[in-house]
Amino acid sequence: MDSAPKYDIVIVGAGMAGASLAAAIGARARVLVIEAEERPGYHTTGRSAAFWSESYGGSGVQPLTTASGPVLHELGFLAPRRALTLGREGEEAQVAAFIEEYSAIGLEVEWFDRAEIESRVAGVRPEWICAAFEPTCCDIDVAGLHQHYLAQARKAGADMWCRAGLAAAERTGEGWSLSLTDGRRVAAGVLVNAAGAWADPVARMAGVRALGITPYRRTMAQLAVTPAATDDLPLVLDISETFYFKPENGRLWLSPHDETPSPPCDAAPEELDVAVAIDRFEQVVDWRIDRLEHRWAGLRSFAPDRLPVYGFAPEDPAFFWFAGQGGFGIQTAPAAAELGARVLLGEVGGVIDPAIYSPARFS
Ligand SMILES: Cc1cc2nc3c(=O)[nH]c(=O)nc-3n(C[C@H](O)[C@H](O)[C@H](O)COP(=O)(O)OP(=O)(O)OC[C@H]3O[C@@H](n4cnc5c(N)ncnc54)[C@H](O)[C@@H]3O)c2cc1C
Repeated sequence: MDSAPKYDIVIVGAGMAGASLAAAIGARARVLVIEAEERPGYHTTGRSAAFWSESYGGSGVQPLTTASGPVLHELGFLAPRRALTLGREGEEAQVAAFIEEYSAIGLEVEWFDRAEIESRVAGVRPEWICAAFEPTCCDIDVAGLHQHYLAQARKAGADMWCRAGLAAAERTGEGWSLSLTDGRRVAAGVLVNAAGAWADPVARMAGVRALGITPYRRTMAQLAVTPAATDDLPLVLDISETFYFKPENGRLWLSPHDETPSPPCDAAPEELDVAVAIDRFEQVVDWRIDRLEHRWAGLRSFAPDRLPVYGFAPEDPAFFWFAGQGGFGIQTAPAAAELGARVLLGEVGGVIDPAIYSPARFS
């Protein structure tokens, strides 16, 4: 083991989580990122719906999303999309409660009546009578942001090894002796778990208590529709969370908002989920579906309370959680990386209290 390279911090996983954290700490510690796949971003990061919405993920996630907004705008990774969360007759109270909840914490959310909905979504079916309108919702350039972080991490001095999965982690006096799937060995002071859907298995591998971070499959379909999905269409969701869709280069990206528990894997879409998505879409607008062009699925991994987990494991000061990013790991990446870096390097300050996301809440 003496000849093995030594790093202060080894990050497991080079998705949005691992890449953004490496970019934040690369200049201040000797950092290595290890990624099991041939290229970073192959799993959840490469499969997202690519929006930034301050209400998405709930009020516990919102501080991270809102704090990330200015950074993402400044870097040029956001483009206006706007969002409409629709309600049917009988769902007015739910829509009103949604508006009240998010207005109370300072978000821009307006009530839209039927006429206002029609002005944004031509051909919307008559049963959709009210909506919450969020003017701040944006599209996010996921690949651009991920590449930005990978480049920043390299520039800051972090090393990155692909096709190098963590196979075993043995605790030593000073930290860790790690064995990789490519046969290499490496020594680390701190092991960071940014393994997405594999967060719990990586913890177990290191002898750390798993937290019940569960991957859930989410399905997406790309459709060609008539009339074509123009770029001024907002992100359209419903208050009961049964679908969302948005335009993407003249096509439509549609999801049935599914959440099926899954083991960590290379997720693939199920025919039934795509059929459900299309059926629900046909109940929203009177548009014709010309073609189903593409379908995919990815795993969104949630802790039991659906908040992310950022911080040292209470039982092991050399094991750091950076996991449970659920359906919001792209839109929260800048603030999460800043917070994660601060806790990891033992710094004080910052606007968001790290205790909210600490793994100690599960102790
Ligand atoms: C359909 C869908 C739509 C979404 N839409 C949005 C959205 O609009 N906005 C938003 O903000 N978020 C969205 N998300 C969520 C977002 O994509 C995730 O929160 C984010 O990508 C998680 O990043 P990650 O780095 O934690 O995970 P991943 O990208 O999965 O990265 C984890 C990495 O760890 C690696 N790994 C695992 N085990 C090991 C090991 N033993 N050794 C080495 N490497 C290992 C994996 O290979 C993987 O590359 C969506 C997700 C899905 C599936």
